[in-house]
Amino acid sequence: MKEERLPVSIDPVRFAKTNRLCSGVVNLCDLPRLCESMTSNEGVVFVAMRFFSNEESRSVIELKLKSELSLSCQRCLGEVKIPVDLCHYLVPVKGLEEAERLPSHLDPVWMEEDDLVNPLVLIEDDLILAIPLVPMHPEFDSECVKVLKEFQIEDLNKNLNKNLNTGSQESVISPFSVLSDLKNNLNNKY
Ligand SMILES: [Zn+2]
Repeated sequence: MKEERLPVSIDPVRFAKTNRLCSGVVNLCDLPRLCESMTSNEGVVFVAMRFFSNEESRSVIELKLKSELSLSCQRCLGEVKIPVDLCHYLVPVKGLEEAERLPSHLDPVWMEEDDLVNPLVLIEDDLILAIPLVPMHPEFDSECVKVLKEFQIEDLNKNLNKNLNTGSQESVISPFSVLSDLKNNLNNKY
């Protein structure tokens, strides 16, 4: 099967009937909604699309994306590069009811008025969904963990000072004091 370049618009039903394959490279700076969540809009996303009709005669788009997103680490606030390598099976739908009827391994894609799909919107939506809720450097990243340790030591010092000032170590209840209270109570009763 001959592989084509990414089309400007997709007619999913027609593409699925002819089992089309297309691939290409998209600059991340051409995806403005995605760039809003990133620390840098440099880089590209490698895209591969395959169109086919499944056993239920649905037109399916296999979308494969490979990229690296520059995000802000939520631990040290430095830049963290999150690799993205995903493969999703998308089915173009026209309404919510149709979307809800899809089996769980298929994701809905909203078709535009003219029954076409804009591949850039598809790619951008999928990349936005791939952004982790809390992006962070891995634990073994020494720079990020250094910042974390500095924070922890600062916190530890603060707590220590607070305890010394309030004398909170005295408020710890000793099991012996509980016993002696109990004994006193018993002595008072009898
Ligand atoms: Zn970090």
